[in-house]
Amino acid sequence: MSLLDFIPGVSQVKSLVHLAAGDEEGAKRTQDRFFTKTPIVAHCTAGVAKVCGDHATAKQCWEGGNSSLNSLPVVGHTKGLLHYAVGDVKNGNKAMEMATSTSLNMMDSVPVVGHAKAVVHYALDDKEGGDRAMVSATRTTAVTAAGALGFVIAGPPGAALLGIDAGVGYDCATMAVTDGKQVNGICQIIEKPTDVDSYFNAGMSVVGDGLTGYAGGKVAERYMKAPEISTAENLRAIRQKKGFAENSNVATGKNGKEIFCEAKDMQTGKTYSGVNESVREIYGDPAPRPNEFLRQHPNIETPLKRHPASCAEAQALHKVVESQSGPNLSTAQVRLTTVEVRPNGDIYSLPRCENCTAYKDVVGSCTTDVKPFRVPRSNEYLTKGGAAYGTAATMAAKHARRRHID
Ligand SMILES: [Zn+2]
Repeated sequence: MSLLDFIPGVSQVKSLVHLAAGDEEGAKRTQDRFFTKTPIVAHCTAGVAKVCGDHATAKQCWEGGNSSLNSLPVVGHTKGLLHYAVGDVKNGNKAMEMATSTSLNMMDSVPVVGHAKAVVHYALDDKEGGDRAMVSATRTTAVTAAGALGFVIAGPPGAALLGIDAGVGYDCATMAVTDGKQVNGICQIIEKPTDVDSYFNAGMSVVGDGLTGYAGGKVAERYMKAPEISTAENLRAIRQKKGFAENSNVATGKNGKEIFCEAKDMQTGKTYSGVNESVREIYGDPAPRPNEFLRQHPNIETPLKRHPASCAEAQALHKVVESQSGPNLSTAQVRLTTVEVRPNGDIYSLPRCENCTAYKDVVGSCTTDVKPFRVPRSNEYLTKGGAAYGTAATMAAKHARRRHID
């Protein structure tokens, strides 16, 4: 284990070197260590994981962060963030408020609110205050958007990383265009390289940007997984109505699976569902004979031994074809989303089997043709969690900038 893995920036560069050398596992190991072992970062990750309901990761990060904590000289300053990490918002607020001179200035860094506040400043002929609010609010928007982009590229670590990267870039640009009047985040080190506080403030800014980026990533994730989340919620509603247990699947027989597919006809906006053969009886969704979708394509050959009609996709596509009328029958505008109920009741996305893939040219798309992932419940994105770490991030960033702004 290298000490360098604990240093923001350095560990990311190290990861890139790993990646460039084709060592994907080494890159991931370095990043995991950064987020699960680095004091403050690990504690913040723990807090984020906790509010997101990922208790295993929270415990791992919390303990990892604590084990490295002794080597950190500025522990005292992080008290507020630590309170947040364990869910103690009241004491966290107290500590943070003591460190933050006015709550009014905090509004500056909230997008839209900050922008609106800037307009009021300008209206009152307070150009400096307006500039400050405008720069601060736009900065948060930039960091959040970068986090969303980072998530698309590399998941949660990418979200945090690009958030940090955008914050650093933004601060450097701000310092340049304001002729050195606004010196924020990491630029404080450039301005006062011998002042210890510069490093601490820059570090707090980096942590805040990482969290803000992470929050942006969560928004992107919610957006990207919208079809799967919607399909899983619909399935849960159906299962609840039928009285199926939430913590187990209803698959029967050897290798039995419980698979549910939704086919959305993008032309009409209507959605049709199907389940796989082994659970059709218990779902009360008997197999259509013949399957009209398969009948449209008699020349497509399927490689697997089982009949293509046994899949949930074929069942759903049959219903799409049945619903259509007129001369232009086509499933070319249909989007498939397939999920599976695992034996413990968890709902995972599911790529198409080889039989279903044989029909890919006559179907629009399938959102779940990717590595299977556990589909989050929509309430895992509740604003409560977002607000908690959003506030922590904002306060951390604000704290970092306070000395130079006030
Ligand atoms: Zn299939």
